[in-house]
Amino acid sequence: LVPLNLPGYAVGGLSGGEDKANFWRCVDASLELLPENKPRYVMGVGYPVDIVVCVALGADMFDCVYPTRTARFGTAMVSSGLLKLRSRSFANDMRPIEAGCDCATCKRYTRAYLHTIVTREPVASSLVSVHNVRYMMRLMEQIREAIENNRFEAFVQQFMRKQFPRVRANDDYAVPYEKMEEDGRAPVWVREALAKAGIALKS
Ligand SMILES: [Zn+2]
Repeated sequence: LVPLNLPGYAVGGLSGGEDKANFWRCVDASLELLPENKPRYVMGVGYPVDIVVCVALGADMFDCVYPTRTARFGTAMVSSGLLKLRSRSFANDMRPIEAGCDCATCKRYTRAYLHTIVTREPVASSLVSVHNVRYMMRLMEQIREAIENNRFEAFVQQFMRKQFPRVRANDDYAVPYEKMEEDGRAPVWVREALAKAGIALKS
């Protein structure tokens, strides 16, 4: 396919339940064979952690149902992980899903309100979807901005520190996407993949 000089290339067949150690190695091996000056699209990825890792390995584009599907189960995506809005922790939480988020849901609704309607009113799925899609757009905006300003490595380190904090603040009710190492560090596959991309996570 490379000699055909196509306008872009997709890497597919992943995110089908393979383990993460194989996942990142397949992405890495595929991207290495594809031209850097063409859009390289990794299909069906994924969680924000997976996307940041794949960008580090050279991917440019992604697609995934996760932000809207998980919204239907009342789960909101934030910089420190996931908020399961059905949890009673949010019953009296008057903050927006994520402070500083400019989405229509965060401007108008509190976590407590969303908690109240999340299993009762179908509109809750739409409200949380609006936030989750905006979260993904902001994530990609931040990635592009970091790459353009030559500070992608620092961005990745900060992103992972937020996703996998040593200690969570008492009022941070987020849960992680990935099982953390016992000492709170990012999972081994994340650290191995980023090391391959030349990015060390400060432990
Ligand atoms: Zn929001």
